[in-house]
Amino acid sequence: MGQLPSSLLQSLQNLKGYSEAAFIAAHENATQLTSIRLNSAKPVVVENISHTVPWCSTGFYLNERPSFTLDPLFHAGAYYVQEASSMFLETAMKQTVNLSQSLKVLDLCAAPGGKSTLIQSLLNEQSFLVSNEVIKTRVTILAENIAKWGAANVVVTNNDPKDFQRLQNYFDVIVVDAPCSGSGLFRKDAAAINEWSENNVLLCSQRQQRILADVLPALKEDGILIYSTCSYSQAEDETIVDWLMTTCNMETVKLPLQEDWGIVETRSQQQQGFGYRFYPDKVKGEGFFLTVLKKHQHNYNAVTTKNTKANAEKITATEAAVIKPYLKQPDDFFFIKQQTTILALPLCLQPELENLQLSLYIKKAGVKLGTVIRNELIPEHELAISCILNSKLPSVTADEVTALQYLRRQDVNIETGLKGWALICYKNLPLGWIKILPNRINNYYPTGWRIVNK
Ligand code: SAM
Repeated sequence: MGQLPSSLLQSLQNLKGYSEAAFIAAHENATQLTSIRLNSAKPVVVENISHTVPWCSTGFYLNERPSFTLDPLFHAGAYYVQEASSMFLETAMKQTVNLSQSLKVLDLCAAPGGKSTLIQSLLNEQSFLVSNEVIKTRVTILAENIAKWGAANVVVTNNDPKDFQRLQNYFDVIVVDAPCSGSGLFRKDAAAINEWSENNVLLCSQRQQRILADVLPALKEDGILIYSTCSYSQAEDETIVDWLMTTCNMETVKLPLQEDWGIVETRSQQQQGFGYRFYPDKVKGEGFFLTVLKKHQHNYNAVTTKNTKANAEKITATEAAVIKPYLKQPDDFFFIKQQTTILALPLCLQPELENLQLSLYIKKAGVKLGTVIRNELIPEHELAISCILNSKLPSVTADEVTALQYLRRQDVNIETGLKGWALICYKNLPLGWIKILPNRINNYYPTGWRIVNK
C-alpha cells in the first residue's frame, strides 16, 4: 500500500474518533474483509459465512474471499457482494422511515446497485424504488443487478439529477450515495491513493452540493434524505451537512447506535448536525460517512413536465391468458407491451408509470416476461430470475458443473423427460431458461451475461 496523503491525514487531525496511528496501522495491515448481503427473497444456505454484520440483518462477513464468478448462487441473485460499512443504510432507513407505509423511494446515484438492492429488500409490496444512474455506460450493470435481485417494484432510470425536478414533491425518501474522492476505499484500491488530491476533494464537494440542490425539489416536505460518501474528508461530509441545514432548510436525525459497533457520531461545525463515520481501525468495514436529514417546508419554482405522450400499450386477452400461468400471483400486476415484449409491473406503479415515463428516461421497469407468438410465450431471462415467477413451472436441476456450463453458455446435458421451455435450477434457484428438443438442449442464458474467464 502506498503512503497515505499527508494533507489528508492533516485534515483529519481534529475530527472526533480519528486517531492517526491506528488509522495508518489499519491501512498498513489491511486484512481484506469480504462481506455479502443475502437476498431474503431467494433463500439459500451460503457456506463460508463467519459472522453477521451487526448493523444489517442480512449482512455477513465471509471467512475468505471465494471466486464469486464461479459460484452459481452469485449469478442467481442469492446475494450481493457489498462492503460492510455501507450496509448501515439498513439501520438508517429502519430508524427513520416508516417502512410499513407505501413509499416512493429514489436512489439517485445507484450503479452498480449495492444500495438499491438493499433498499428494495426493505420496501413492502405497495412501495417502489426508482434506481437512477446518470452515466449511461453504468446503467447496464445496474439494470442487470436489479434483474438478478428479482424484484418487480424497481424502475431503473438514466437521468441527470436535475431531471428529477420534473417530479416535484414526489419522493418520500431520497438516497444520495454521492460520487466522492474515495479515500474510504484506499484499503481496497491502493491505486486510488495516487489519484487523491485536495483539489479533487473540493471539486467533489462542489459537485455533491450541485447534485443535492438539483434533486431536493423532488423530495416531499417531511421527506427523508440519506446522504453518504466513502470519503473521510469533512468537505464532503460534515460541511455538506452544514450546507444542507443552512441553505436547504433541513435538519439531521440522530440515529441510536450500539457502542460496540465502533461507529463514530460526529457533529457538523456550524449547525451541529449529526453524521456517522466509519473508520477502519474502529469498525469491521471500510471508510464511510452517512447522515439522515428531514426536509422542512420548501419553496421551489414549479417545473413543467415534458409534454409528450407516454407509450405503454395494453396487452390482449389472449396474451394475458398465455402469460398468467408463468406468474406466482398474476393479480398483483398490470401488464404493458413495449414493441412486442410484455412487462409485468406491480399495481402500485399503475398510477405512477405515465408520470415517470413523461419525466424520466426509463431503462427498465418491472419484469420483462417475454413475447407471445402463436399462443406461446418466448420467455425473457429476467422472468426466470425474478421473484414473481410461478415456482411450479417445469424445471430441471443442475449440479455445480452443469450450472457453470450453463452460465458459460456452453452445451448442457441433463437427463429429463421434459420437452420445450424449462427452467434450469441450482440449489432450487432458477439460473435461466433452456429449451429441451428431442435431440439436444438449447441454452438461453444471455450472451452478454455469460462467464467468460476461467
Ligand atoms: N450507490 C452505489 C452502490 O451502492 O452500488 C454506488 C454509487 S457511487 C458511490 C456514485 C455514483 O454516482 C456512480 O455510479 C457515478 O456514476 C454516479 N455519478 C457520477 N457523477 C454524478 C453526477 N454528477 N450526478 C449523479 N450521479 C453521479
